[in-house]
Amino acid sequence: MLDTPTLPNDLESYWLPFTPNRDFKSRPRLLAKAEGMHYRDQEGRKILDAISGLWCVNAGHARKPIVEAIRAQAAELDYAPSFHFAHPKVVRLAGRISALAPKGLDNVFFCNSGSEAADTAMKIARGYFAAKGENQRFRFVSRARSYHGVNFGGMSLGGLPNNQKGFGPLLPGTDHRLPIPYDPAKDRFTKGELQGGENYADALEAICAEVGGETIAAVIVEPMTGSGGVFASPANYLSRLRTLCDRHGILLIFDEVITGFGRLGYAFAAERYGVVPDMITFAKGVTNGAVPMGGVIVKQTLTQAFEPKAPYAIDFFHGYTYTGHPLAAAAGIATLDLYRDEGLFERGLALEPKFRAAVHELEGARHVIDIRSIGLAAAIEMEPIKDAPGKRGYDALNKLFFEENLVVRISGDTIVLIPALVASESEIARMVEGVRAVLGRLD
Ligand code: PLP
Repeated sequence: MLDTPTLPNDLESYWLPFTPNRDFKSRPRLLAKAEGMHYRDQEGRKILDAISGLWCVNAGHARKPIVEAIRAQAAELDYAPSFHFAHPKVVRLAGRISALAPKGLDNVFFCNSGSEAADTAMKIARGYFAAKGENQRFRFVSRARSYHGVNFGGMSLGGLPNNQKGFGPLLPGTDHRLPIPYDPAKDRFTKGELQGGENYADALEAICAEVGGETIAAVIVEPMTGSGGVFASPANYLSRLRTLCDRHGILLIFDEVITGFGRLGYAFAAERYGVVPDMITFAKGVTNGAVPMGGVIVKQTLTQAFEPKAPYAIDFFHGYTYTGHPLAAAAGIATLDLYRDEGLFERGLALEPKFRAAVHELEGARHVIDIRSIGLAAAIEMEPIKDAPGKRGYDALNKLFFEENLVVRISGDTIVLIPALVASESEIARMVEGVRAVLGRLD
């Protein structure tokens, strides 16, 4: 026994996010400790983490340099205000992040999550055009099946209907979507990026023709659709999108909340595809999941437009009490050191073909109707049960946890595997074999 079991009435108090609460409370999945690639539950059962925390623990759990950095920072400077003041670690971290980003993306604005990063980027885009006297550019174009967090801006841009329904009117100017660049009729079981497929970006031309390209502030895309079910961008799709945005004077935002910090084998997916956006949003892997942090990396040409004339006037009326929190900044620096010193982005890139080969061995397994993989992320899509969409996925999550000692992510009836950049080949094999075993036992 590692700890006192949680009391039933504590469980009653806790309202879980994105979870069937009542069912959870009837058989809780509690994770009490973590180290490296594994969790332990309260009874000490060892459970393999197949999803890097939640797309964030890229270097494995409880890494000593990060733990020590947080501990030391808490003793040295626990908090400092972020409006009108700064502290040394946040300044250093901003420099470290902009050095990893494509050339020209020189300024970093910090917040505390991917959701806040999406909304911050939207405000920067609208604020930029307002500062230039182009108030008519207020629209945003995003992509079907996208996820940009749960705050009103990012939620309005999202392409997953369940996340919007029931929450009333969305933000004006957010109702146009590019199609997902994937045709289930011919692209099933694609490994990595589709070749061809850049023409899916041309849907932007039709939207510009309909609403006027001069009314669009920005296009925002995840370079790899993550939460929506792991869809890679086709090889030349993002560069085509860049060209079209430039043609119409539209900003291009990459939401790299999950593709940032190694998921696709590079610091940012922008590097993998050789495309320079105007802004990159990040979160999660920046601190290896150890302290909440998010942010937006911004082209200096944009931030310059905000500069007021008077020296005492504020540039950007936006920010959070915990912008660049000292504990997050310290964790961020230690995390970036670790990624660099252990060559983890390169390790992830080298592991990608082995991971892909392992996951695609599930082709032909019971219930499996599609497998998609890119970087160290893979979706194993199962046929839904008639009239009960999501049930098979939820049953898989439970069986994998209780019977195979695996934590996986589900998106409807799709099982998602997201191994950490430090995963061994045998741990990847265990993930795949656990999924195969459960597929054989599912209704
Ligand atoms: N953007 C993307 C692409 C994400 O995948 C996520 C979360 O998974 C978010 C934004 C929201 O991040 P957070 O949950 O930290 O608010």
